[in-house]
Amino acid sequence: MSRSVSGRVLAAWLREVGVDYVLRPPGGEALDAIREELADCRRCPLCAGRATVVFGVGNPHARLMFVGEGPGSEEDRLGEPFVGAAGKRLDRWIARIGLRREDVYIANIVKCRPPGNRAPLPDEAQACLPFLLRQIRAIRPEIICTLGATALNSLLGVEEKITRVRGKWRERDGVPVLPTYHPAFILRDAGREAEVFGDFDAIGSRLRLPPAK
Ligand code: URA
Repeated sequence: MSRSVSGRVLAAWLREVGVDYVLRPPGGEALDAIREELADCRRCPLCAGRATVVFGVGNPHARLMFVGEGPGSEEDRLGEPFVGAAGKRLDRWIARIGLRREDVYIANIVKCRPPGNRAPLPDEAQACLPFLLRQIRAIRPEIICTLGATALNSLLGVEEKITRVRGKWRERDGVPVLPTYHPAFILRDAGREAEVFGDFDAIGSRLRLPPAK
């Protein structure tokens, strides 16, 4: 059994017996070291149009991590993922399971804004993926929730239709991954939001979160 899996099992057991907080064993890379390497990144053409490298935000020890597609214009301006309308919707989903934005970690497949808010190209996603994987290893979340098809397909190296696989658990490097819809998609098709609610409820129960008030 790998160290990270046994660590998770141990953490779950400690919570079961009433221990909520344990010091992280040494070995995990610091997020700041990864951030520094990206400060002046020129690894793909997206650097030409960016104002900010949108690294990621949230609790560096989060149990739950979200992965979106790439920064939009507001995110590029403010340097934080999911701060526009889609971000507000994501915040509501997070609140549904009794958490706040500060409790989770939020990152994207690419850290620089694709022009015209298009999806990142495969080469752009490939250039950025090693940094996301390092963030995941540093944070060691218990669950990753991918938002939309690009996040799922780039993170897992698959080509799935999101409507077919949302709500079905997958795995990346030993971490359970739950694909759900992108909040921007739900802003355009509110009729599908009930499916997202189901996915968040599944996350909440897998993390054994108490029902939100
Ligand atoms: N959409 C994304 O996928 N990521 C963001 O950060 C904002 C919008």
